[in-house]
Amino acid sequence: MAVPQASLLFSILAMIAIVGLRYLAVSGAFAWLTRLRRPGLYAGLDRQIKREILWSLLSAFIYGAPAGLVAWGWQAHGWTRIYSDPNAWPLWWLPVSVLVYLILHDTWFYWTHRWMHRPALFRLAHAVHHASRPPTAWAAMSFHWLEAVTGAAIIPALVFVVPIHFGALLAVLGVMTFMGVANHLGWEIFPAWLVEGAAGRWLITASHHHRHHERYGCNYGLYFRTWDRLCGTDLGLGSFDGGSGRRLAAVAGGGIGGAAERELAGAEEPARPGASLPHPQR
Ligand SMILES: [Zn+2]
Ligand SMILES: [Zn+2]
Repeated sequence: MAVPQASLLFSILAMIAIVGLRYLAVSGAFAWLTRLRRPGLYAGLDRQIKREILWSLLSAFIYGAPAGLVAWGWQAHGWTRIYSDPNAWPLWWLPVSVLVYLILHDTWFYWTHRWMHRPALFRLAHAVHHASRPPTAWAAMSFHWLEAVTGAAIIPALVFVVPIHFGALLAVLGVMTFMGVANHLGWEIFPAWLVEGAAGRWLITASHHHRHHERYGCNYGLYFRTWDRLCGTDLGLGSFDGGSGRRLAAVAGGGIGGAAERELAGAEEPARPGASLPHPQR
């Protein structure tokens, strides 16, 4: 075998280190960019950021361990359908496989995320992520360990089912990392023509996910607005001015069939009065 066989433990520890350092590097870079582009945006959030970093580093263990196991199995035993020869599958499959992975990951995320908003699970686990009010660049992996388990399972499972070139898999992980951080910045990194244009009606950026952190019972998707629009949980784009998002409400359009704000705000999470957690409509 061309690549020396790494021990299982080494592979797991290495992957945990890679995920943790990747998080610190990318979130750190975006936090630095935020200081340049939006000075003072994270002022007064030191305690929240500390919490976000601690939960994220715990998540790095949970994301890294199965990835290390699968990487070891791939190298040592030929597990998985990851391939190294670009010609092993038609070349068109390289970009298409990236898209397929993103669509499947988005689908998994949408439904598990909605599940996480069931009151009991929200209180038990997902409240950790929503304690970021407003989220920062450090919140990308700020999940309770239970939720991190659901997130960590999907890509290591997919590589056993859907063939993908190693480079295409790196591209998927790159998009996952970039969007995870960019969507929590608290400001929009993409240009208005994209966010508010035709592509923005289907792609998720910070403006879309920010509204999830403002309103909770809507905008559950990860990369694409498709499931939100199909299921009527799309409340359009949030705003970063601290207001109610009216500026962009016109862009919202609701889901397919025009599902609108009136039906959705607060759906599927413990929005009842007296709930022990801080909740929507702050
Ligand atoms: Zn979030
Ligand atoms: Zn949520």
